[in-house]
Amino acid sequence: MPRQFFVGGNFKMNPVSQEQKRALVKALNEADIDPSVEVVIAPPSIYLLPLKDLLRKEIKVSAQNCYFKANGAFTGEISPAQLVDAEIPYVILGHSERRTLFHETSELVAQKTKSALEAGLSVILCVGETLEERESGKTAQVVEAQLKPVVAAVSEQDWAKIVVAYEPVWAIGTGKVATSAQAQQAHADTRKFLAQAVSSAVAENTRIIYGGSVTAANCKELSTQPDVDGFLVGGASLKPEFVQIINSKR
Ligand code: PGA
Repeated sequence: MPRQFFVGGNFKMNPVSQEQKRALVKALNEADIDPSVEVVIAPPSIYLLPLKDLLRKEIKVSAQNCYFKANGAFTGEISPAQLVDAEIPYVILGHSERRTLFHETSELVAQKTKSALEAGLSVILCVGETLEERESGKTAQVVEAQLKPVVAAVSEQDWAKIVVAYEPVWAIGTGKVATSAQAQQAHADTRKFLAQAVSSAVAENTRIIYGGSVTAANCKELSTQPDVDGFLVGGASLKPEFVQIINSKR
């Protein structure tokens, strides 16, 4: 079965007003969207429930993070169980901004992934190297090191509910997109790793999406790469061009 094309919109810490929220919802609800694409919007947690109710049903909603505990004294955190109860189907975990700004280790990301899957969520699992790591030829090694704790923590069946987002840190929010050859290589290496570390079926079926300065101008070429199964879009997901990115395959 071909892997379903997946486009995620990572709104990060946006929108910042009800007015902006309404404009984003209106644009998405009125857009002509390729029905064969899985579209998932990740707003800040304060907007999860309103967006879930306001957006047309084909567009799913994702949290941008969660904790690994189900409940208790963890001020400021949201649990996988709470997301499931709110009927939020997805959570982004391991985004580079969380790894760098909020000091999340690959072990913590794996622990969160395991809890999220156990609670019944699907996970958009982000991995990717820094510029320094790329320049020293360590891209595959870094991505593998980020994935290994997850491989150890989850079962083979769990991978059906994981979308891997390859997001080179140097491409995120910089306007410096990976070339389609760079993306294809990293995705193919990641798939090869999944084949060795988990199984060939998981490698074949897991969607590996690309993130980092994806725009309407570069999405088409990236989307033609055999191992690029979609995108995780930051900045451009707040703009009208997001619809063109969703429709890259058209
Ligand atoms: P960007 O962000 O598209 O603004 O580079 C991507 C991401 O952080 O997921």
